[in-house]
Amino acid sequence: MTEAVPIDEFLAGEGFITEWARYQGRAILEQAGLTRAGKTGMAPGKLAQARAALARGALRTCGDPDCARLGSPQQDGRLLVEGPPESCEVCHGSNNRRAALVLAEACRANGVRRLLILGGTGANHAELRDLLTGKDVSLRCIDGSAQTVTKRDALRDLDWAELMVVWASTPLPHKVSVSFTDERPTTLPMITVARRGIAALCREAAIAVSGGPKRAGRQ
Ligand SMILES: [Zn+2]
Repeated sequence: MTEAVPIDEFLAGEGFITEWARYQGRAILEQAGLTRAGKTGMAPGKLAQARAALARGALRTCGDPDCARLGSPQQDGRLLVEGPPESCEVCHGSNNRRAALVLAEACRANGVRRLLILGGTGANHAELRDLLTGKDVSLRCIDGSAQTVTKRDALRDLDWAELMVVWASTPLPHKVSVSFTDERPTTLPMITVARRGIAALCREAAIAVSGGPKRAGRQ
């Protein structure tokens, strides 16, 4: 006879770490008829079904308020269960992903779709695009260290964009940035992000898109 798997251990492995989360997990398993009150072990043959029941019954998040908010549209009657970051169904434990989702949500809520990013490397841009895949936000990214920009190209990008973000902490030669800043139409909002990192870029762009203080750049 195969040995029963301790339910608490199984739940911990599935991201139900805290006492409250384990309680929630047990409730889901009991409701699915996979265990009952007082039982501590489960037959290994039931684990696949138990995993499926947990996926149907719980939305796992890292406990970050942004993830709870961003996850609510997909909660769909499931219990909100807080666990370790890597089990979060929203950010998957990534600050960059969470911040990109916050930006995408701000863009959606404010009808902004086209962002022009000045600065950052090709790798940054690729990651940012990847995180925003399927989010109805288009990016044009200028890698200042690799690109020379003609005035015509700059004007075309400025005309296209709905927000210009100058990523000042990254390699961005003055001659590249002025091609854009000098020609910026007064109607195009601009922000400067001084902090490094994709999460910082996304957070500050999200504030600007939502009409935060930095939208004052629109003068
Ligand atoms: Zn999360």
